[in-house]
Amino acid sequence: MTTFDAFVLTRDDDRRQSLAWTTFDEADLMEGDVKVAVSHSTVNYKDGLAITGSSPVVRRWPMIPGIDFAGTVTESTHDGIAVGDAVVLNGWGVGETHLGGYAQRARVPGEWLVPLPQAFTPAQSMAIGTAGYTAALCVQALERNGVTPDDGPVLVTGATGGVGSVAVALLATAGYEVVVSTGKADEAGYLKELGAADIVDRAELSEPGRPMGKERWGAAVDSVGSHTLANVLAGTRYGGTVAACGLAQGMDLPGSVAPFILRGVTLAGVDSVMAPRPVRLDAWARLARDLTPATLDAITETRPLADAPALATDILAGRIRGRVVLEVA
Ligand code: NDP
Repeated sequence: MTTFDAFVLTRDDDRRQSLAWTTFDEADLMEGDVKVAVSHSTVNYKDGLAITGSSPVVRRWPMIPGIDFAGTVTESTHDGIAVGDAVVLNGWGVGETHLGGYAQRARVPGEWLVPLPQAFTPAQSMAIGTAGYTAALCVQALERNGVTPDDGPVLVTGATGGVGSVAVALLATAGYEVVVSTGKADEAGYLKELGAADIVDRAELSEPGRPMGKERWGAAVDSVGSHTLANVLAGTRYGGTVAACGLAQGMDLPGSVAPFILRGVTLAGVDSVMAPRPVRLDAWARLARDLTPATLDAITETRPLADAPALATDILAGRIRGRVVLEVA
């Protein structure tokens, strides 16, 4: 029997879940033609939901949480993936329906993996993680809809979070004037360092608002949802686009159709989990082109995998700034 160590989530007959650091038999890994020695993972908002059980993210028991990982291939029968390759995984239900990244080993279908971009170390790829890769998907969704720096400021909500921090950096690098909304006034220096030109108190956007307001931004990246997204749409200029990817405030969207039918605003939905491979490769290429090691250092804290349970609670409470890399190896 070959074993490895992993965090494993279980659930009892009363649907109460618990998390334990335990030994796992490699034979119990799920189907897949590539085995990976995981070196790094990270803490995403969804990992927080999964580990605390505050939302029904996990749909297979027992589950190894961790929706993303980086590591080195140790076995492969997948065409084009060889032993020794450095790889990155984001999503595809890993940590939800397929055993995840908070473990020393993972086995997945090879088509779920992307090569580690040459620009990054495995740790840097997890400093980006699913949150950062989703930020790139959001920026690319805006640009696919024709948004350019000439269209005016771009608002980023949840700005000190993982998606927000990377979105601010990517937009600023591409020449956009970035306006951020945050609940953390004391992080103004951090946000300006990433490229924010102006800061809005998130309280301005998080309460019920009017169907339409003053036209304030040409486009937006929203990871907050609920009243915030409704107000972001209501403040978007004629013909603008809002990329929506998150629900940090809530899953509801209590707004009106007014911005769509009176201002031609586009709401672009962004999903990272099932995004097709070419879309992922494009997003990773953009990240490799536009994120410097200095930027990644500025947004990242590195912690041992053992800290994952505490960090899961912290991320849901909004206590984490930027990104956290988990060292697994
Ligand atoms: P983080 O926790 O790192 O960031 C979320 C940020 O939102 C916080 O830092 C805070 O920013 C702000 N925020 C938190 N609570 C509230 C609130 N009640 N009202 C208003 N703002 C709030 O999470 P991530 O950046 O990793 O993820 C953000 C969202 O995006 C999550 O909902 C996540 O599930 C979603 N997501 C979706 C993906 C997809 O595929 N669609 C992929 C990745 C993430 P501040 O303090 O600066 O205001």
